[in-house]
Amino acid sequence: YGAGGGGYGGHGYSEERSSARRVADHYSARSNQTLEERENSPIIHLKKLNNWIKSVLIQLYAHPGDCVLDLACGKGGDLIKWDKAKVGYYVGVDIAEGSIKDCMTRYNGDTDQQRRKKFSFPARLICADCYEARLDEHLYEDAPFDICSCQFALHYSWSTEARARQALANVSALLRPGGVFIGTMPDANVIIKRLRETDGMEFGNGVYWISFGEEYAEKKFPASRPFGIKYKFHLEDAVDCPEWVVPFHLFKLLAEEYDLELVLTKNFHEFVHEYLQKPEFAELMRRLGALGDGRQDQSTLSQDEWEVAYLYLAFVLRKRGQPPSQ
Ligand code: SAM
Repeated sequence: YGAGGGGYGGHGYSEERSSARRVADHYSARSNQTLEERENSPIIHLKKLNNWIKSVLIQLYAHPGDCVLDLACGKGGDLIKWDKAKVGYYVGVDIAEGSIKDCMTRYNGDTDQQRRKKFSFPARLICADCYEARLDEHLYEDAPFDICSCQFALHYSWSTEARARQALANVSALLRPGGVFIGTMPDANVIIKRLRETDGMEFGNGVYWISFGEEYAEKKFPASRPFGIKYKFHLEDAVDCPEWVVPFHLFKLLAEEYDLELVLTKNFHEFVHEYLQKPEFAELMRRLGALGDGRQDQSTLSQDEWEVAYLYLAFVLRKRGQPPSQ
C-alpha cells in the first residue's frame, strides 16, 4: 500500500492541509478496541445502528461480483458487509496510515482461525488523501468501479471548494456509467437548525457536542460561501476533530457537474423508519441488537444516541450514462 497521493510536503502548508492532517492523526491514533471495550462503549447501540444503515445501503446497491471502491475506508469495518454482498474486488483508500494498517490486519485475519477462511475477494489498500490526490492516476488498472462508498467521511472534503471538487472528480472518474455512489454524512439542515435553536454557539447532549466559532455568531451561512464552514465535533468514544458543513442542496448541484445524479437522500431517522418495514432488514437489526426487536426501544438505543442519529443522512448518487451491456 501507500500510493503517496496524500503527500503533505511540497509547497504551501495551508490551513486546510493542517486540518486534514489533524483529522488523519485523530483517526490514526484511535486504536482497535477489544470486543469488551466495544460492548462497554456509551454509544455501542449507535455504532450498531450505523452498521445496520451501512449494511442496508450495501445490500440495496451492491451486486455479486462488483468492483468496489471504499473511500475513507478506515479500519475496514465494512469488509464483512462487502463479503456478504459477494463482491468481486475491493479497493480501500484512507488518509490515516494507522487505519490502513489495521484494515490490512483485518483483511488478512489476525488469528490462525480467521486466516483459514477470510474474505473471498482480492483487495488493495492505499494510504492517500482522497480529496487531494488524483486517484484515477493510482487506480487506472483497477477502474472502472461498479460501486463507490464513502461512509461518515465525505464532509471532510468540504473544507475548500478544490477539495470538495476533487472528491467528486475522483468518484466520477472511477465509476462506470450507471455505477452508484453510496454514503453517509452529517445532515447540515439538522446541524444548522440545532445551532439556531440554541442560545450560544454550542449544543449537544450526554454523548456529543458541536461547537461553532464566533465568526458564525450571526448564524447565517450564505449560499455564495458554502465551503470551509468549520465546527468542532465531539462524539464520546468515537470522534473529536474539526468537521465541515455540507449544505446538501449545493452538494447535489456540485455532484451534477461531475455527472453524478441524486437517487436518494434520507435523514437517518427517516431511513430507519422506512427500511425497518422490510422484514429482511428488521431481522438484521434484531441480530445486530441496536433497536431491540425492531422498534425504537429505550432499553437499547438511548435517547441521546437516537439524537445523534438524527444528525446524519444517507445518500445515493448514480453516474450518468448507460451501463455497458452484458
Ligand atoms: N468509512 C469508515 C467507516 O464507516 O467505518 C471510517 C469512517 S471514520 C468516521 C472517517 C474516516 O475518514 C477515517 O478513517 C479518516 O481517516 C478518513 N478520512 C478523513 N479525511 C480523509 C481524506 N482526506 N482522505 C481519505 N480518508 C479520509
